[in-house]
Amino acid sequence: MRRCLIAANWKMHGNVPSIQAYLETLIERVGSDDPEVVVCPPFTFLPVALLIASGSGIAIGSQNCHWEEKGAFTGEVSATMLAELGARWVIVGHSERRQHFGETDASAAARAKAAQRAGLSVIFCVGETLEQRDSGETLAVLERQSAAVAGLDPALLAVAYEPVWAIGTGRNATPAQAQEAHATLRRRAAELLGAEAAGALRILYGGSVKPNNAVSLLAESDVDGALVGGASLDVEGFCAIIHAAPGHRPGV
Ligand code: PEP
Repeated sequence: MRRCLIAANWKMHGNVPSIQAYLETLIERVGSDDPEVVVCPPFTFLPVALLIASGSGIAIGSQNCHWEEKGAFTGEVSATMLAELGARWVIVGHSERRQHFGETDASAAARAKAAQRAGLSVIFCVGETLEQRDSGETLAVLERQSAAVAGLDPALLAVAYEPVWAIGTGRNATPAQAQEAHATLRRRAAELLGAEAAGALRILYGGSVKPNNAVSLLAESDVDGALVGGASLDVEGFCAIIHAAPGHRPGV
């Protein structure tokens, strides 16, 4: 069985006064039969989020980490520092990092390896642009971007399929488009990690997931959860998405 995983990517949003109420509501609403839930606030809110979520079933993660443990990398935060703080997850290779901050397949792979060395679980993001989809390159792009998982520990890994054209646009992939991409990613993971690890691998969909489309996306057999941006900022909406997911889904 794969336990579904619903992750909140707050991006560069949030503020200290609202975090307490948000997390307290989440802690109260999420039960042990529900999917696993991870909240990824900006770096500065991690200590307070970790304090509030301590002892609860809600895990806290970061939106990025550097690939070195320490050094002259002004403005960066290492995976070791995040692990020391108590964070359990890190999002790596998000398309906004690729688009705006020069993230490449190689740097994303290096960050993911560093995160796992520090004991963090990784949500590794892949996804095609609209131009790539329109020119029929989607599956090839996913195969290329997901090559990075070859060097990773499957026990500390989830993959997020996030079509770039669906992120923050209000235009989600259809359930069939998501299922096709996820099945390709699982096949690719079987080549890279072995069939057993691929069967257990959680593959999340991300891109304009909202309470009103979550049920149909999460009904697909290879969609094991969601990475939620904008809709995760409203705790009621985020809870609705969590409860749209089955707690577990049969593994392959
Ligand atoms: C994301 O940031 O990973 C994301 C999927 O954003 P949104 O849900 O807003 O499209």
